[in-house]
Amino acid sequence: MYQAPRGTSDILPPEQSYWSYIKQKAAAICELYGYRRIETPTFEDARLFVRSIGEDTDIVEKEMYSFEDKGGDQITLRPEGTAPVCRAYVEHGMHNLPQPVRLYYIASIFRYERPQAGRYREHHQFGVEALGDADPALDAEVIDMAWHLYVNLGLKGLALSLNSIGCNDCRPPYLERLKTYYTQHKESLCADCKRRLAKNTLRLLDCKNPTCLALTEQAPRSTDYLCQECSEHFEHLRRYLNLLNLPFTLTHRLVRGLDYYTRTVFEIAPEGETGAQVAIGGGGRYDNLMEQLGGKPTPAVGFATGIERLVLNLKKQEAAIPVLPLPTVFVAYLGQDAKYEAIRLTAHLRKSGISALASLNERSLKAQLKQANVSGVRYTVIIGEDEVKSKSVVLRNMAKGEQQTIPIDKLAEALR
Ligand code: AMP
Repeated sequence: MYQAPRGTSDILPPEQSYWSYIKQKAAAICELYGYRRIETPTFEDARLFVRSIGEDTDIVEKEMYSFEDKGGDQITLRPEGTAPVCRAYVEHGMHNLPQPVRLYYIASIFRYERPQAGRYREHHQFGVEALGDADPALDAEVIDMAWHLYVNLGLKGLALSLNSIGCNDCRPPYLERLKTYYTQHKESLCADCKRRLAKNTLRLLDCKNPTCLALTEQAPRSTDYLCQECSEHFEHLRRYLNLLNLPFTLTHRLVRGLDYYTRTVFEIAPEGETGAQVAIGGGGRYDNLMEQLGGKPTPAVGFATGIERLVLNLKKQEAAIPVLPLPTVFVAYLGQDAKYEAIRLTAHLRKSGISALASLNERSLKAQLKQANVSGVRYTVIIGEDEVKSKSVVLRNMAKGEQQTIPIDKLAEALR
């Protein structure tokens, strides 16, 4: 028996109500905030991701689905959504449009991770990118959007963590301080952190190992080392968030797993939960990425949220979500003449905008009614020999169990 590959899932019809709900809410938020949809290819030139995400990150080191295609090109399945959007921005000269350019995407993301609850090898993200402006009010806009998406979905008890990790001017001296600090405590670090210490010191801050966590409490904080511009940017952002009534916690441990972030980083997770896969969304500013990818200097900010994690949290909180509608009518029949009538009627109902299913094969009326029940329809139409002769149908209300006879050409109208 074949099975879906490890870390992937089939999203079956009963689950689709969640997905449809989330995508609809996401699109509505985007429309409200003026973000337009972009779709980029599922795979890209591998170098796009190596360059942007960073060679010493977990994603590039061990999680990318990369392969050489039949033409000899190095290809990677999209492990995140931001770099492809930036590539498209540069490729299509979007710097000529009024700035910032506000875009959103809903895309499948591929990472070769160790599968567990909330962590998969293929997952889906809804993300937004606001490209071409450095104003901290734009950071606040993006955070506000993320927050309101969750509120509109009906999620409760979420917490917003915020940090600033500075820019190319103020981060290097900070990283030196951080490296010195952790080097002094190298013996207590976990194996991963010992390895990361030289190349990706910032990531030590979000290690979940208890001894590393304890060390991190006393570690130098990026916000104490910000240059004046970064410091002002961060101060303004906090003021705007207060203005928008968005409660946040300054979290000096927050750095995120991709190298391209500058200044603002943020994450939203269920309050009080900690661990590697509790964040339902996060993002930040990436002012140097566009230039790294060959574009003009273009400050930008964005966020992404995992759709599977949203579904998990909606279920956990037993949030009321609208269920996708099932067909309205099931058309049952007895005998071949009635079947001709049933097929014609089903087509007519569909053309009239009423969703309908026709019974198939010859089954007893009892079996057909049972099938109608299971398919969840609100009405069953029954056509027998008498009905064919009198050009009428029996209409059965499934919930009430009541039946009435209706002329066949009045049925669509009656159902509407
Ligand atoms: P990231 O691109 O790592 O910042 O992730 C953004 C969001 O995507 C996270 O907050 C999660 O909600 C979700 N996410 C990231 N990785 C996975 C994964 N392997 N499986 C499921 N969801 C994920």
